[in-house]
Amino acid sequence: MQHYQTEVAIVGGGLAGIVSALELLDRGRRVTLIERGDGNALGGQAMQAFGGMALVDTPLQRRLGIRDSAALALSDWLSFAQFGALDVWPRRWAEHYVERCTADVYEWLRGWGLRFIPAVQWVERGLQRPGNSLPRYHVIWGTSRHMTQILLRALQQHPKRANLQLLLRHQVQALTRNGAAVTGCEGLDQASGHDFKLEARQLVIAGGGITGDLARVRQHWPREWGAPPPMLLNGSHPSADGALHDATERIGGNVTHLEQMWNYAAGVHHPNPQFEGHGLSLIPVKTALWLDPEGHRVGPVPLITGFSTRDMVAQIAQNQWPHTWQILNRRIAVRELAASGAEHNAAIRDRRLFAFGWQMLRGNPRLVDELLARCPDFVQAPTLPQLAQKMNALAGNGAISATVLEQEISPYDAQMQRGKRFHNDDQLRRIAQLRQWSGDRLRTCNFQPILDPAAGPLIAIRCHLLTRKSTGGIQTDLDSRVLGANGQPIAGLYAIGEAAGFGGGGCSGRGSLEGTFLSGCILTARAAARHIGT
Ligand SMILES: Cc1cc2nc3c(=O)[nH]c(=O)nc-3n(C[C@H](O)[C@H](O)[C@H](O)COP(=O)(O)OP(=O)(O)OC[C@H]3O[C@@H](n4cnc5c(N)ncnc54)[C@H](O)[C@@H]3O)c2cc1C
Repeated sequence: MQHYQTEVAIVGGGLAGIVSALELLDRGRRVTLIERGDGNALGGQAMQAFGGMALVDTPLQRRLGIRDSAALALSDWLSFAQFGALDVWPRRWAEHYVERCTADVYEWLRGWGLRFIPAVQWVERGLQRPGNSLPRYHVIWGTSRHMTQILLRALQQHPKRANLQLLLRHQVQALTRNGAAVTGCEGLDQASGHDFKLEARQLVIAGGGITGDLARVRQHWPREWGAPPPMLLNGSHPSADGALHDATERIGGNVTHLEQMWNYAAGVHHPNPQFEGHGLSLIPVKTALWLDPEGHRVGPVPLITGFSTRDMVAQIAQNQWPHTWQILNRRIAVRELAASGAEHNAAIRDRRLFAFGWQMLRGNPRLVDELLARCPDFVQAPTLPQLAQKMNALAGNGAISATVLEQEISPYDAQMQRGKRFHNDDQLRRIAQLRQWSGDRLRTCNFQPILDPAAGPLIAIRCHLLTRKSTGGIQTDLDSRVLGANGQPIAGLYAIGEAAGFGGGGCSGRGSLEGTFLSGCILTARAAARHIGT
């Protein structure tokens, strides 16, 4: 058994762990960062993430004429969250987020030399209930990967680097407690195969969420969505397995709202899978028709992104569809197809201004070609009968008929061709609304019919539900201290980032305004460091 001693132990080397380690070194504390993966795991999911953040009343918004305020953001947040009377800490974290995100995230990141793309996006506008009243989604120039690399480098080159001990390939399995206070943790050193024990004055859990373990996702699947889907893609990482949530519960910490999760509706098999069941989350194509497994248009409310991700996921889950289809053509795909994450946004990730500008104007044919060539969920064909045949071959049944496809697509196309003055289809009305905001205008076709022979070939994308973020988790107060059964903090124990449901054990409630996750990691990590460091 290997023994270690430290002042502050941080379990998990993702974004939350890195930010708290940095801030604790700044405050002169001795820190041990424990990560179950090797050096390549440092940064966690933030190395793959896109880098969109919901921020409120920033100088960038003001420059674009967006008049935002913490009060307006809170009212939007509460509308999506639908907190219950007992959700005291989630609600306090929501209030803290809208009030502090610009100073503690936006300005803090700018202090590290990071910049945001000067076009704020308008996502999650709301469908059944109001969402973002204004554009708030700020994208880091360089993506989340660039941000994380900068913070990681700052940690490794910190003037007080001697105070940082890095334990890689060490997997924490249990927390230790002596009376009222947490005293450290124990686990397995995977490199040597020996157990280890670590004593610490404070311990910070930064091990991520639960959505990397599909069995656990199904166990906590929201009841109102019916039986959990047999087919789910993993859009998180297997290390997000919830074992630290269990360890926290075993020593008396509260874990709440694991049924709250932020899943996506347009998952496809990842073209470069890193683990079994690895999924890629597509930003759904707005002009495409979204069909059920038998080729009928989803309705009466059509599925279209930009309004409510949760409603889309709920609609698919409640219908128990094993998959859905998006039908489009190549011209639409080139203009609108996008995928979330650093990997498939190379122009932004590599900070290539010219390539980014070109893509905004001309679309992204490279992504379309890559997915057509390497993703098994993409098929293309020149005619509807041939497309239907390929869809059936992919699904392994005969559920799709070209006649049904034609019956669904033709009236939609015909409305477009009649001219904007006569549009009365809900999807077309919403496309018109989306195109009024410059951020969406460039990335949304100007009413492109699907069966237009000049815009082919036709493309079908088979979509699966995909897991991503855990928005429930370990219950914490505004200092990120873990709360126990009596509602009191457990001495010496903190939880941050996704492990804490981004604050309070679920500050998003039932639905996120989107992009509240990376920023939530930074806010909760800084709160813990402030409290420990004082
Ligand atoms: C493709 C993709 C795109 C995304 N895009 C966005 C976006 O645009 N905006 C946004 O806000 N969010 C986005 N997210 C979500 C965001 O990246 C995550 O919520 C965030 O990075 C979580 O950070 P974390 O530090 O809390 O946890 P993680 O990144 O999960 O890190 C936890 C770390 O703890 C380690 N660990 C786990 N268990 C143990 C243990 N027992 N012992 C030791 N170590 C352990 C893990 O190996 C891991 O390195 C995206 C996520 C993905 C995957």
